[in-house]
Amino acid sequence: MGLSAQRSFLLILTLSSLFVDVSVSRSFPPAVGLAIARQIPLWLRSIRSSKWISRIWNKLKSFITFKELKLGDREEVLSYLKEYLNIFGYLNSTSQSNFSDYFTLDFQSAIITYQKNFNLNVTGNFDRNTSNMISQPRCGVPDIINDTTTMNSGVSNTTTFKPWWKEGKKELIYAADPENNVTNGVRLLFRDVFDRWSKVTSLKFTETTSFNGSDVRIAFVAFDGRGGTVGGAATDYSLGVESVYLDSEEEWVVRGESDEGDVDLEFVMMHVVGHVLVLGHSSVEEAVMYPVVLKEKKTELVFNDLQRIHQIYDVTSK
Ligand SMILES: [Zn+2]
Repeated sequence: MGLSAQRSFLLILTLSSLFVDVSVSRSFPPAVGLAIARQIPLWLRSIRSSKWISRIWNKLKSFITFKELKLGDREEVLSYLKEYLNIFGYLNSTSQSNFSDYFTLDFQSAIITYQKNFNLNVTGNFDRNTSNMISQPRCGVPDIINDTTTMNSGVSNTTTFKPWWKEGKKELIYAADPENNVTNGVRLLFRDVFDRWSKVTSLKFTETTSFNGSDVRIAFVAFDGRGGTVGGAATDYSLGVESVYLDSEEEWVVRGESDEGDVDLEFVMMHVVGHVLVLGHSSVEEAVMYPVVLKEKKTELVFNDLQRIHQIYDVTSK
């Protein structure tokens, strides 16, 4: 599977219309019923259905009578755990819903890689810490793409992330999906996030209202319910377009204090724009590019993010 296909991993079935008013509300619907679903737009292509991903998350959430699982064990939940690890790049299966419920050697190897990536004790078992980490909300972009990762497991050294935009291009145009009808507050937040990344690269980001003519397209879409996948980015190398999707079913917070389970829009945007700039995930918890949503809000680039972005971009050429 090519890099393009892998990064364009997740299918969005519906698109929501959001009416966001940050002046009166710190979090915004669909909780209050303002989301209008419609068919997936063509520019958000993928191979996986959001219904299917919801099913996996729900199954994992329902695995509440936790017990540690090890090599040779057989449990129904194992087939779903394999699906989960496959989505995020830890197994190399191209077929979905075809996993056995046995704890196999392949699965053990995937668990070990996952534990290394998330700084967990490397037990090779599906233990409590691993289960807790897997149940956290996270980014939809895989941790391992084409056997390549920038996380701790370092499965390959050939971290050749290639830009999706035309060579030599110094300015990228971005737009929010007009169907979402986002407020000025959200647009300003997008602006700030792009500016912050622009300062550490040789690229300039400019907003446009011409959605179809933009290089980076941002949309809130109904994805997999609250929790689970909060958003992600998908590359279409043939069109030279990067799509950023944000799950409209999250309880988003726009520059405010968040409650348990809320998701901070500024943090998620900082993270996904890192993907727009072809950064992969980091194992450093403090880094913006850490794939799991933690309670602490992270909106500033830390040393680890800067070190990695500087490997790709020559900021001195600005
Ligand atoms: Zn990510």
